[in-house]
Amino acid sequence: MTHIRAGLAEAPTEVDVLVVGLGITGAGCALDAVSRGLSVLAVDAHDLAFGTSRWSSKLVHGGLRYLANGQVGVAHESAVERGILMEVTAPHLTHALPMLLPLDAGMGRRQAAFLRMGFGAGDALRVAARTPAETLPRPRRVSATESHHLAPVLGTTVRGGILSWDGQLEDDARLVTTVARTAAQLGAEIRTRARAIELHRRRAVLRDETTGETHEIAARAVINAAGVWAGDLVDRIELRPSRGTHLVLRGDALPGLRVALTLPVPGERSRFVNVVPQQDGLVYVGLTDVPVDGPAPDVPEPSEAELDFLVDTTSTALAHPFSREDVAGSYAGLRPLLRAEGRSADLSRRHAVLTSEDGVVTVVGGKLTTYRRMAQDALDAAVTGAGLVARPCTTARLPLTGAASRADLARLAGESVSPRLVRRFGTDAELVLAAARQVSGLPDEELLRPVADGVPATFAELLFGVTHEGAHDVDDLLDRRTRVGLVAEDRAAAEPAARRALVLAQATVR
Ligand SMILES: Cc1cc2nc3c(=O)[nH]c(=O)nc-3n(C[C@H](O)[C@H](O)[C@H](O)COP(=O)(O)OP(=O)(O)OC[C@H]3O[C@@H](n4cnc5c(N)ncnc54)[C@H](O)[C@@H]3O)c2cc1C
Repeated sequence: MTHIRAGLAEAPTEVDVLVVGLGITGAGCALDAVSRGLSVLAVDAHDLAFGTSRWSSKLVHGGLRYLANGQVGVAHESAVERGILMEVTAPHLTHALPMLLPLDAGMGRRQAAFLRMGFGAGDALRVAARTPAETLPRPRRVSATESHHLAPVLGTTVRGGILSWDGQLEDDARLVTTVARTAAQLGAEIRTRARAIELHRRRAVLRDETTGETHEIAARAVINAAGVWAGDLVDRIELRPSRGTHLVLRGDALPGLRVALTLPVPGERSRFVNVVPQQDGLVYVGLTDVPVDGPAPDVPEPSEAELDFLVDTTSTALAHPFSREDVAGSYAGLRPLLRAEGRSADLSRRHAVLTSEDGVVTVVGGKLTTYRRMAQDALDAAVTGAGLVARPCTTARLPLTGAASRADLARLAGESVSPRLVRRFGTDAELVLAAARQVSGLPDEELLRPVADGVPATFAELLFGVTHEGAHDVDDLLDRRTRVGLVAEDRAAAEPAARRALVLAQATVR
């Protein structure tokens, strides 16, 4: 029943394309390759979305920040890919996020005018990318009264604001899982707990992390999408990651917040902290940019200084400051930044496709928003380099599993017994429930109830995580298929449900 599995038992030993890494980049490559008619094995040493892809700000950027740096091409590419995600491939996993930039009495008129001009340019990018204003409304000035209505937590010195719109993901790890599942549905072999040990022209050595056994794989093309670990697998590619940290707050720490806030960092001209409410009631506050030397850890940890910076910067702009005691959780991710490119966080969003002397194609950098384009470029290089016969890329027109038009999704959510499942699985919501019923025999009421007090994830999602999304243990379920693990207290409360889901569903999967 499951389309994605742990380990390498019965995995193919000969394929057209081997993809290493199942973050958004590797999952995108697997989908691109299989949709061109190629046979694919895609592996991750740990799990889907184990690396940077689950630690993002979960935004689908329109490229405004690159315009500010004069990177018009990168900005346009970002806006185009945002449009494709929101309009074609993943309307179910994306929505328009209203973002308010408060104009404070302390902010000079020139800076305010500069910011207004920037948002106008951002909207021009949207128009150039042909994303309709019904999907992402035009930015507009709002009064002090409206600003306080949208964000009652703002201080009294606010004299108005600029309200703009960008894309927001339901969740970054959910996007990765959905891309991987779409690839699996088309025939790609997706394996977690399978580590690449050696990559060569036309062959690779993989280790099944569930058994410790090594497997030799013959692959006509090898793609290295191992993110900040990509340099460990090929010569002459060196990364110098930069860490970005977010706080996780419960909604009641910032009561009444209806929009995301973009708060200028005092004393800096174009650096901001974003306060971003999530659909499940949490609020993420980020982010930082700290260069990291030495080997990349499996799971990066925020520093105390970063946590203090985010609390202090945000609190300065609010009428009721919050403190470290209000922080329910935090997370940090490493931007896969090529050393040659310097340390700017903006440069890291530009992607690179590099073919090493022995023919391994490495794709690195970029961002979640542009994963489709990165995959297309990587596959173009792999197909040409290996002389493969393949169809042209079609992923810009290939909806991910569960996708439908916004109107159809709204109708479905209105009729569904679980709008949450529609939000996270789109038209696959009924499949999630049906699969959960089948393996558990439990009534819908029990399957759709939050798994613990104040934790909105449902038992149906946990069961589906095992039956259809390759979840292998409690960590996969709580930290990646759902994001319950972002708050340690919630994670502890949900753990018994995750254990029960594994016992019930694994009996069917095996
Ligand atoms: C703090 C932060 C915020 C961000 N916010 C946004 C945002 O809001 N919007 C946006 O568009 N982008 C954002 N980005 C950028 C985006 O998150 C990354 O560019 C993207 O997730 C990188 O994905 P990846 O697949 O290349 O790498 P990863 O997600 O790190 O995937 C690499 C995978 O390779 C696996 N792996 C490593 N070594 C091996 C091996 N030997 N064998 C097998 N597997 C291996 C790892 O387990 C991992 O799962 C953000 C980045 C950061 C750091």
